[in-house]
Amino acid sequence: MSLPTSAEVVVVGAGPVGMTAALGLHKHACPDVVVLDGQLTGENTSRALAVHAATLDTLADLDVADRVVGSGRKLSTTTVWTKGQPPISTTYFPPLGKYTKYPFILGIAQHVTEQILHDACSERGIHIHRPHKVVDLKPSDDPAFTDVILDNGHVIRTRCVVAANGSRTIIRQLCNVGWSDPTGELKSVSPNDEAEAANMVVADVTFKSPPPLKPDAINLVHTSSNALMCIYFPGDPYPDAVPSGTPVYRIATGVPRELGAPPSAPGTDYLQPLLDRYGPHVTVWSSRFRTHSAIADRFFAHVGETAGTGPVCFLGDAAHVHPPMGGQGMNLGIRDAAKLAPVLAEYVAAARAGTASQTALEAWAAQRRKRALEVINFVKDLQRRLWLSTDTKYVLGLIPYNPAWVQMSVLRVLSSFEWFQTKAAYTVSGLADS
Ligand SMILES: Cc1cc2nc3c(=O)[nH]c(=O)nc-3n(C[C@H](O)[C@H](O)[C@H](O)COP(=O)(O)OP(=O)(O)OC[C@H]3O[C@@H](n4cnc5c(N)ncnc54)[C@H](O)[C@@H]3O)c2cc1C
Repeated sequence: MSLPTSAEVVVVGAGPVGMTAALGLHKHACPDVVVLDGQLTGENTSRALAVHAATLDTLADLDVADRVVGSGRKLSTTTVWTKGQPPISTTYFPPLGKYTKYPFILGIAQHVTEQILHDACSERGIHIHRPHKVVDLKPSDDPAFTDVILDNGHVIRTRCVVAANGSRTIIRQLCNVGWSDPTGELKSVSPNDEAEAANMVVADVTFKSPPPLKPDAINLVHTSSNALMCIYFPGDPYPDAVPSGTPVYRIATGVPRELGAPPSAPGTDYLQPLLDRYGPHVTVWSSRFRTHSAIADRFFAHVGETAGTGPVCFLGDAAHVHPPMGGQGMNLGIRDAAKLAPVLAEYVAAARAGTASQTALEAWAAQRRKRALEVINFVKDLQRRLWLSTDTKYVLGLIPYNPAWVQMSVLRVLSSFEWFQTKAAYTVSGLADS
């Protein structure tokens, strides 16, 4: 399909968030939406494994939730262990049935979710133009419009730009939008912990002798100044690399300081010493990441601050990033997009009628930024708790105590109350964002 020269809305980026924005705009009858992506094909890495209840509610409004649920595994508990001891705490998701049709965390690889969103776009006639990279935005001669400039020199004149092109988007820079960690880099309880929390690795692996873990649980194992997450992967996520029926696990763990920065795609030799308590494994996919958070200082802007040019909305990783603990990034982005769609569709309809006001878009941006800050704080708090030191500390230099033991003991007691478990499940599920 040839590239148009004008559009009411240009969605830049066809990751999960951009595709959700396109589906939402289609549902709200927004005419003339163009979706662009700089890559020839979609991402093939598994990245986001958890889809939460609030996101499934959102996807249900777009008529894609059933397909997503049918392709994933329902995870009904999160269990925290310490090495060699019975579980400290278990969070049960079924009680969330009071608030949602989806009282579980859905385990599904991001590339499978993206394929389902892609299929839904195709069925609705939403074409993704690839590979077309946006390299610049300029105010158009008509001040209500923006010119979107592609790497081949093609120009699309549009009323509104949706920046859903990931954390490295150039559009923030083009709109003079700042990007920083809202609370500074994570400072943990000791220099040693800080280093462990600053580098992490995530990998999809098979075990030569599978660990004795429940397949429908997210398992968090707390060890000395570190933590290991292990989830049994749904389906056959790597049909080309792993024989059908072989269990694949997603693992994520901190990297001890003495190992320095991990390689960008750590192999089995690197990961094995970190996983020795579970036995030999084979790495199928892996990545390292810094436990870094950042947020755009505005989710709504104009090109170069020029008064009168069309609006630019930032969503997904283009607006906020944080560590994968708690599995919030893609979830939050999908909900940003779904919440933007009716507001933007209404703006476009009003603009076509010559009565546009940007107030509702500004309100959307303020509300989503507030929510993103809450999620960043939640993830940082989770991270701090997981990497609490097991070294002995002293009150007044005299009375010894072990911070991790104290915290785990408090958690064990609190977890015996149903209200605490339900509150924990509710927080992770994002239902407060519905
Ligand atoms: C290891 C790991 C584990 C994770 N686990 C979870 C999890 O369990 N749960 C969760 O919710 N999140 C998780 N995340 C985060 C999640 O992967 C991201 O939040 C999600 O991919 C963001 O989607 P997006 O559509 O905003 O951006 P992206 O997925 O980055 O997509 C952006 C798209 O924009 C395109 N693009 C970029 N620049 C341009 C341009 N100039 N012009 C045109 N197109 C462009 C790219 O080609 C890409 O297709 C994880 C991330 C990592 C790295």
